[in-house]
Amino acid sequence: MSGICGNGSEGAESIVVSGGYEDDEDYGDEIIYTGAGGNDPNSKRQIADQTVDQPGNAGLVTSQTNGIPVRVVRGSGGDPVHSPAVGLRYDGLYRVSDHWSEDGKRGFRVWRYRLQRLDSDEETPYLPPENLPPGRQAPGQSRGVTTRILRLTEVSRAVKAIHKSTCQVCGLRLGVPGGSVIEGGHIRALGSPHKGPDTPDNVLCLCPNHHALFDQGGITLSDDLRIRDFEGKDLGALRTSPKHVISIDHVRYHRGLWLN
Ligand SMILES: [Zn+2]
Repeated sequence: MSGICGNGSEGAESIVVSGGYEDDEDYGDEIIYTGAGGNDPNSKRQIADQTVDQPGNAGLVTSQTNGIPVRVVRGSGGDPVHSPAVGLRYDGLYRVSDHWSEDGKRGFRVWRYRLQRLDSDEETPYLPPENLPPGRQAPGQSRGVTTRILRLTEVSRAVKAIHKSTCQVCGLRLGVPGGSVIEGGHIRALGSPHKGPDTPDNVLCLCPNHHALFDQGGITLSDDLRIRDFEGKDLGALRTSPKHVISIDHVRYHRGLWLN
């Protein structure tokens, strides 16, 4: 049977691809994977619509929006070209690059996920950033996918939970079916040469726009946590929570990268 281990708050840890859903398409390095639910447990045929609120389906959405890689296990019931002859086989880490819903082959709604195998050098960020060999740090800072994975930490998940996935700059929560689009942004960047820590006082809960602006100096913070654009104009106060203390040292470090 098909199976997703995970849920909407943590993301999906692993999936099993074993032919449980006839809509699955396995191309080896790319899999179009069908979500969970809707199958009759006896006939294993789909008898109802799938929902994105099903825990495994919501988990894969969170894996995409948070850049959490998914372990892929293939079983012998899957595509004969890419599956083991018998039993189960661990086939490495994949990222969820896209998802959508459509009418499946049985006429019921299914949720679909595009999973793409990580390059071997993209798996390296599983090491704590400070432990990366020197040659591996530059790609981790410049490649989109790898950077997103680097930012995936328990810490940023906790910070997002405190702020209920609402951007601390604009106050928007960008809801999508099964979750929300929100990012944990480090104030003082991880990795060389900044060597910021992965601690809550160094993480902001930001929408993708304000994350990009913050990372590139379009906005900075004052010592009293007011938001300034790069010409110094005051844009208002950062949204804060008493449960989330922010390090002024890291705020100053970030500001120093962009302003005198
Ligand atoms: Zn925002």
